Amino acid sequence: MASFIVLLGPPGVGKGTQATIIAKKMGLPHISSGDLFRENMKNQTDLGKQVQAFMDRGELVPDDLTIAMVRERLSRPDCAKGAILDGFPRTPEQARALSGILGTRSADVGLVPFLNADPDVLVERLSGRLTCRAGGHVYHRKFNPPAVNGKCDVDGSDLMQREDDKAETVSRRLRVYMEQTSPLINHYKAEGKLVEINGELPVEQVTAALERAIGIR
Ligand code: ADP
Ligand code: AMP
Repeated sequence: MASFIVLLGPPGVGKGTQATIIAKKMGLPHISSGDLFRENMKNQTDLGKQVQAFMDRGELVPDDLTIAMVRERLSRPDCAKGAILDGFPRTPEQARALSGILGTRSADVGLVPFLNADPDVLVERLSGRLTCRAGGHVYHRKFNPPAVNGKCDVDGSDLMQREDDKAETVSRRLRVYMEQTSPLINHYKAEGKLVEINGELPVEQVTAALERAIGIR
């Protein structure tokens, strides 16, 4: 049975950090819509050019573009056994599309761990986040610093602050989350799939809670 897990939660709560760990443990692909968009921007694809302004402003990319991109990604063979989805769906329309895409292959979203944290914690995490230019590996100035200042531990490339992690954009992203994405909490609760997890704990403790929820611990 395929295992599609949706990590839900506000920007900065640790979805990408946890998805990387859990995907590796479960041998499933980690699909981050934000990473896919950033890859397209880096490569200056047509899609990348279309989404850049939305992303830099901290707004959501329109549903049609987002859904088409994720649909294509999910159609690849490595997703046959499932995937860890991080940052998608982000609107009710995207959630319906995801059910439709998985339904065509007799699969569905299994579990929706909802990571949550106070806005103050989110702002501190986003404003201290460092991302590597080459592979998108993620660090934090205070909570998870790289071994060598300014360099990625994994590939040695330069670390930078994401454009949308600058203070003025962070507040807009948190607002966009509240308005457009938080309705998914009730959507998945009603389907009996939501499991709430305290995202304020240290990384290892969040991982442990997630593993218990998924049933791999
Ligand atoms: P998201 O994908 O939800 O936006 P990230 O996984 O990129 O969030 O994490 C945001 C920032 O917070 C990163 O700098 C990351 O290193 C840091 N971080 C993630 N989880 C924790 C945690 N449990 N405790 C402290 N810092 C964390
Ligand atoms: P993230 O890496 O998840 O923080 O996403 C960064 C940015 O990418 C968001 O602020 C949006 O502009 C865009 N994005 C990522 N995922 C989605 C999505 N599912 N729907 C719309 N926009 C998205």
